[in-house]
Amino acid sequence: MKSSVSIIKCASYEQRLVETSVRRAVDSLGGIAVFIRPGSRVLVKPNLLMAKEPEFGIDTHPEVIRAVIRILKEIKCNILVGDGPSVWGKQIENVDEVYRRSGAKRICDEENVEMVKFDKRKWHGQFPLTSYLNECDHLINIPKFKTHELTLLTGAIKNLFGLVCGTYKTELHKNHFEINDFSRVLVDIYEKSKPALTVVDGIVAMEGDGPATSGKLRNLNLLLAGSDCVAIDTLMSKIIGVEPMDVITIKEAVSRKLGNANMEEIEVLGERFEDCLGRPFLLPSTSFARKKIPLPIVNIIRRLVKYYPFVYEKNCIRCQACMDACPKNVISMRPYGMHFDYKKCIACFCCQEACPASAIKVKKSLVAKLIGL
Ligand code: SF4
Ligand code: SF4
Repeated sequence: MKSSVSIIKCASYEQRLVETSVRRAVDSLGGIAVFIRPGSRVLVKPNLLMAKEPEFGIDTHPEVIRAVIRILKEIKCNILVGDGPSVWGKQIENVDEVYRRSGAKRICDEENVEMVKFDKRKWHGQFPLTSYLNECDHLINIPKFKTHELTLLTGAIKNLFGLVCGTYKTELHKNHFEINDFSRVLVDIYEKSKPALTVVDGIVAMEGDGPATSGKLRNLNLLLAGSDCVAIDTLMSKIIGVEPMDVITIKEAVSRKLGNANMEEIEVLGERFEDCLGRPFLLPSTSFARKKIPLPIVNIIRRLVKYYPFVYEKNCIRCQACMDACPKNVISMRPYGMHFDYKKCIACFCCQEACPASAIKVKKSLVAKLIGL
């Protein structure tokens, strides 16, 4: 069966424009009632990665969250909004700060909608997901359109990692640090959570070393919506200029028959897809796709080539967020600056994702330099 994805152009985060555009995206698919039962309880999950204001372009913009809330209100849903931000270890109390600075709390207060924290969990095999998944009838996923240092794309599937409760995210990074393995976990989470509807905030997107302060903002002016996260990620990968099968989560999801990555099986509604393609995105420094190397060769050289984080001391504010984020506890603060024990580093780049000051950069191993990666 074909998957439908709507794409709507939206030039700014002006409140009425965003609401109209999100509504057009959902209506192109047949309307909200196709996905959500009127009067049901709905968990809305934006991407609230870190405590940064909307202009940083890291978190889902609050006006996109508002638009989804308003559409749900029209069919009298009981709405909860929440995410498991990139706060680590003992910093769980910082969730309030993430909700406040991202603008999500203000929007929810104005719309009289409750924001919840993912502190109660239910185990699903090897990981615990927020118990709100079980307490709600539907999940709506609102990712931010970004590149990602580890998974290449922060799209519809990757955004669901935030459903994992608190410190277990760190455990999963530690135990499944190899990209194929980690992508399998992400697809497991997709299989368990299966959002009824996904709306992607790609009005201001991020390219380069995303998904946080080291990425570069890019005005993409697009919203995408649909129920097949594989099809949505496929269109997102085409937009950034990458073959969908180079995104391991897409490849894994297709192998499990969880969605369509074949363009002939994806019906694009709204804009003409060709009109949404601009110059390719800057890809993360760690990305093999950047060099257009075929996947079988990537799988061979991946074992030889290493990337490591290092601190650009001029930007570092000694906040220690990287230390709290590191699943292997290999970062320490020394009088001369931050120190990494590279023998134990698993190159997961959680430290870069957690750094609020764009201080963590990527360095290459000698082999990577020698073969020009
Ligand atoms: S130092 Fe950074 S990249 Fe290395 S294991 Fe720790 S968080 Fe991951
Ligand atoms: S590198 Fe970033 S996260 Fe680590 S201490 Fe410096 S500013 Fe904080």
